[in-house]
Amino acid sequence: MFLGEFPGYNGKILRVNLSEEKITTQELTPEMAKMWIGGVGLAAKIIYDEVPAGADPLGPENVFVFAVGPYQATTIPGSGRFAVCAKSPLTGIWGESLGGGYNAHELKRAGFDAIVVTGKADKPVYLWVHDGKAELRDASHLWGKKDAYETEDAIKKELKDEKIQVAPIGPGAENLVRYAGLICNYGHGCAGRTGMGAVMGSKKLKAIAFRGTKEIKVAEPDLLKEYLKELLPIINKAEFTKLNRDYGQPMAIIPREENGLLPIKNFAQSRWREGAIKIGAPVGGPGKYNEVLKPKPEACSYCVMGCHRRVKIDYPEKYAMDSYGPEYETLAMIGSNCLIDNLLAINKANELCNRWSIDTIEFGGVCAFAMEAYEKGKITKEDLGGIELKWGDGDAMLALLEKIVKREGKVPRLLGEGLRVAGEALECPDIALHVNGAAVPAHDPRAFFSMAVETATSTRGACHLHGFPEAIELGVPFPEAGPELSQPLDRFAKEYKGLAQAKYQDRQAVNNSLVWCFFYEFSGVTFTWTTKLLNATTGWNLTPQELLKIGERIINLQRMFNLKNGLKPEKDDWLPKRFFEPRTEGGAAGKIPPLREMLNEYYKVKNWPNGIPSEEKLKELGLEFTIKDLPK
Ligand code: SF4
Repeated sequence: MFLGEFPGYNGKILRVNLSEEKITTQELTPEMAKMWIGGVGLAAKIIYDEVPAGADPLGPENVFVFAVGPYQATTIPGSGRFAVCAKSPLTGIWGESLGGGYNAHELKRAGFDAIVVTGKADKPVYLWVHDGKAELRDASHLWGKKDAYETEDAIKKELKDEKIQVAPIGPGAENLVRYAGLICNYGHGCAGRTGMGAVMGSKKLKAIAFRGTKEIKVAEPDLLKEYLKELLPIINKAEFTKLNRDYGQPMAIIPREENGLLPIKNFAQSRWREGAIKIGAPVGGPGKYNEVLKPKPEACSYCVMGCHRRVKIDYPEKYAMDSYGPEYETLAMIGSNCLIDNLLAINKANELCNRWSIDTIEFGGVCAFAMEAYEKGKITKEDLGGIELKWGDGDAMLALLEKIVKREGKVPRLLGEGLRVAGEALECPDIALHVNGAAVPAHDPRAFFSMAVETATSTRGACHLHGFPEAIELGVPFPEAGPELSQPLDRFAKEYKGLAQAKYQDRQAVNNSLVWCFFYEFSGVTFTWTTKLLNATTGWNLTPQELLKIGERIINLQRMFNLKNGLKPEKDDWLPKRFFEPRTEGGAAGKIPPLREMLNEYYKVKNWPNGIPSEEKLKELGLEFTIKDLPK
């Protein structure tokens, strides 16, 4: 092993101070790794320590972290993922996004567990990380000239190596659209949420390029091999694996239209069966996705499922593209949520969002809001530079996207600031469906009550992936978290839903710190398996409960970061009004989530009286250093 290295880790954090053009290496100790794992956990500790309360997310004080964890560059399936974190310019609180593709293993093989970027460059630069070394290079020839895909091409050409992987930003991020993400590997690795691309844009960091050839040591390679030999047949024979391989996430559109989870017309309409058939995969109905887009499956590195879809469209020319097709969230947020059943237009919007570094979830939420505001006369054709923004018009949606990215005109510029700002400025906050500034994603909380608690309490604003307790309502229980969660729960019952979110949230914090794809949980990889794989990789001897405790520590630290930055639980842990109005028909007709009761249970399980971590809890988790930041 190299100096500083320990099983599962390089033992090195690359630190890049853009203001001083200084690059250094910091040691990642085994103690730090065991406390925070890696990925979002490690990033939470760094950002909590280094970003002052009230710092401008688009200012030089913000700290941007690109991190992987112990699984990367091993052969564990689902480990081809990376995390990017910073204070979010969209929400003003904790920002985090995960992406797949090929970057994660390349960074790890390049010799680092994380990259921490501070300050702000005077002129555009990109960071080139390769085999234990790093350098800043001029990016003036790329800035303002190349979108994300073109930037990848240009950097590979410039560095004369096709095997280089790149995390680039396009014009949306350069222009500081607050929901600009980091879209990598030509749309294969999308870390869209919470504006992490905009943070790179604010630092004038055009891209990070990676190339590495180092082997990563694991503690018990034979045991890991044995575990994977046992686990792979379980994964391979799971029904979810088969569906995910055959159809990818578009498989969920028609079933979710049926059960009430699909957002339709800015979450105001109950059914849209015909539209769902036009945009969804043929699961639960004769969906047209495969017929129209003719997708080919593609996988992130070391994935045996391959849920991403490669798509090439030649005609009509205005929808031509050769890239990745939209997955569930994009189809739902830009499609059904805007009543757009023109699949080619949604597919084109997905490609443009990727090239321009725009989060498709947030853009879909913004577009649906703008369509409703247009219908209600809050914005006009003139405000939009001539766009008639009617429900269902795919070409109008594409025109709006371009104006937002270019920040052309007062209203499109406002829409680039996100739903919270736009809703207030246009005096229609009730139709801007967000929590703490982040758009409610394509999981209507009226259809699965646990999702109401999750959407209200995610540490990164509205989110379906900061817990995904819906799993237990779909029949994937969590026995390691106690007897109450060892059986599936009824989706419309309130009992144990606060408990479920509390525990699944901690579990997901573990996954996001391992930086591991949680789809595998639906294919038989239990939390006990997760713990065994981690122990074999690192040589640790954790029980599932001890591992879950690390997840709890990470969530508490993110919560403390949010409180330090002004989060007010009594008003901010809540849902937009629309989710307390019942749907009139369909699978969730008449259902209203009893959020207050479920939230009280969640706070109780967390030991967060009134939503604020108790000193006792912070001490128990080794977070004494945060006590001084508790709200007075
Ligand atoms: S299941 Fe999909 S998102 Fe997860 S690692 Fe595989 S290809 Fe990537």
